[in-house]
Amino acid sequence: MVTVAVIGAGIAGLTVTAELAALGHDIFLFDKSRSVGGRCATRRSAVGAFDHGAPGFSATTAAFRAQVAAWQHGGWVCAGSQGDALARDEAPQHSTPSPIYGVPSMNALAWQLEAQLPARVTLHTDSQVTAIEPVDGGEGWQLRLSDDGFARAARFEAVVVAVPAEQAALLLAPDATQVEAMRHARSDPCWTVMAAWARPLSGVLETSLHSDAQRVLLMARRDGVRQGRTHEAGVANRWVLHATPQWTVEHLDAPAETVIAELLRAFARLLGTDLDAPLHAVAHRWRYAQVRAPRSEPFGWHAALRLGSCGDAWHAHGDPGSTSPDGIERAWLSGRALAQQMHQTLSPR
Ligand SMILES: Cc1cc2nc3c(=O)[nH]c(=O)nc-3n(C[C@H](O)[C@H](O)[C@H](O)COP(=O)(O)OP(=O)(O)OC[C@H]3O[C@@H](n4cnc5c(N)ncnc54)[C@H](O)[C@@H]3O)c2cc1C
Repeated sequence: MVTVAVIGAGIAGLTVTAELAALGHDIFLFDKSRSVGGRCATRRSAVGAFDHGAPGFSATTAAFRAQVAAWQHGGWVCAGSQGDALARDEAPQHSTPSPIYGVPSMNALAWQLEAQLPARVTLHTDSQVTAIEPVDGGEGWQLRLSDDGFARAARFEAVVVAVPAEQAALLLAPDATQVEAMRHARSDPCWTVMAAWARPLSGVLETSLHSDAQRVLLMARRDGVRQGRTHEAGVANRWVLHATPQWTVEHLDAPAETVIAELLRAFARLLGTDLDAPLHAVAHRWRYAQVRAPRSEPFGWHAALRLGSCGDAWHAHGDPGSTSPDGIERAWLSGRALAQQMHQTLSPR
């Protein structure tokens, strides 16, 4: 059994960690954020919580469907209808809103996965890894952290990178093949606005789908109506607005106030009504939201270096005859497949 460092505690990192730990390996899991989940994200606020990253997910493969059924049995996720998305334009590179979602919030799924990790896993949050460096003449690895120190368990026998492709390309520098693979898996950015109103919005049919002729909004989704969501006094409704990739690229460095104003204007146009001033409106920029062209391989793994990568940039192919898996399913499939591969090839040095 070996000591492995996993960088990134999104769905992929949590999955590879859980699988490797179950096989008896000791895992040190690092994430730069305060908590786990990555893009399976929820933002708390005085007006209630917003799922401002992935709104949900689908399950296209038999393996992931079985996993989702277990999560559903545990009450961690719920299979809803697709009708809770009000507005969406016809962006061909993204699938329809995904019907499975976390209960009581999207990041609750990641928290549940974290809570199930065995004692042989050590989680370090607020720990940004800036480089993976060889030690002991290449016999092991050490991780350089953003405060310029090194991770406390100084020597790892294997390292897994489970972060978005563009960030993975930087960390995977010791293996040119994986760097090259990640350079080709480009992600689309997404400006997101979380807004809440004191009064119900007039004329809103929650199950209607509209196209946004201005090409600003990809999706407008009412966030308080799902199972497990709380209701704050004085707040009639909360919405998450996702901009299209194209609009986001054109406004990537726009000030948050401009983004909020533009997305609210597009939302009002879509509803065909004037909007009251919101009680709350905050913008978040996802620089790497969804992968445009994931790799067909399930993961990256250099057996001699003992350096691997997994996440939504990998595993573009699902079961034969089924549609391609979306981001969260790819992250899970990729993390699981890499753990199996590593276990077959790892032995203590
Ligand atoms: C707006 C939006 C809408 C989406 N819609 C859908 C959808 O409808 N369906 C769907 O299936 N998917 C959707 N996705 C995509 C989905 O969220 C991702 O594909 C999936 O969550 C990726 O998981 P991951 O573990 O590969 O990466 P991530 O969730 O990005 O996890 C990576 C983790 O690595 C950490 N990290 C990064 N760099 C470092 C570093 N240097 N050191 C330490 N830690 C680091 C990050 O903090 C993060 O926690 C959407 C995403 C967004 C943002």
